Amino acid sequence: MSSPSPCPLCDSTPERMFPQAHDWLVRCPRCRLGFADPQPTDAQLAEIYSAEYYSQFGYQQGAADAALARIKRATYGRFLRSAEKFTGKPAPGRPRRLLEVGCGLGYSLLAGEARGWEVAGLEPHAMAGAGLPAHLAAKMVRGTLDSYRPPEPLDLVSLIDVIEHVRDPLATIRQAADLLRPGGVLMLATNDVTSRSARRLGPRWVHFHRAHLWYFSPATLTRAVEKAGLTPLGVRTAWRVYNLQYVASILATGANFPLARMMARLSLKLTPRFLRLMSWPPLPEGMVVLARREG
Ligand SMILES: [Zn+2]
Repeated sequence: MSSPSPCPLCDSTPERMFPQAHDWLVRCPRCRLGFADPQPTDAQLAEIYSAEYYSQFGYQQGAADAALARIKRATYGRFLRSAEKFTGKPAPGRPRRLLEVGCGLGYSLLAGEARGWEVAGLEPHAMAGAGLPAHLAAKMVRGTLDSYRPPEPLDLVSLIDVIEHVRDPLATIRQAADLLRPGGVLMLATNDVTSRSARRLGPRWVHFHRAHLWYFSPATLTRAVEKAGLTPLGVRTAWRVYNLQYVASILATGANFPLARMMARLSLKLTPRFLRLMSWPPLPEGMVVLARREG
């Protein structure tokens, strides 16, 4: 295998993290950023993001899925609350504008609207906006940050579980920041490679798979937003609302834990529907980083 590319944050030469289990995974010895090296090719990524990849998150329904909408809306609502501490109050006659990048089915827009935001969603996947009421589906744009230009500068741009998927996270953060007004806030949520579960599970951690190209920690994600020219406002634990259907569907397709996969499949089969779809109290999973555009 060719020697890995230098760490994009500190230029050090990374080391293989788990040479036996994941020979594509490296970690910077200095800043601890983890990343895929080499990254999968476009063709490999297309295969990874096949119908099955999305079905694990509930995309197979396509149409409205009330239970999935409930948990996504509750989770994004919690994230928004922490961002609103920094975006300030809406001025009279001027709405606060937010863009959710990679918003999937778009259920997060329900939370934004409920909290008084003027919302827009950006999503390359074909199912973008499926299941949203028509007036919100109309706020969805099929595409990526490469081509999107908002009509007005934004108060908030959020990327929830997106940054670990992109080829060049620093470039993506800069693109997102360019859409903000001065003083506007960027919100990034992703998994945390230094979390207790990551440390405990080692190579079997659920997030170690080929769709994830980057593995940040609070320190490395803070460094990334700084490097992209933003002022970090803090890192907090991401509290997320799940239900059994959602969690078991992800575990049922995971490759790192054969026993968990089997249990998940069984629980999907045996648990009554109302229990599968009941929202759980919020659980800590990953982190949220907030940063401000100054100029
Ligand atoms: Zn580094």
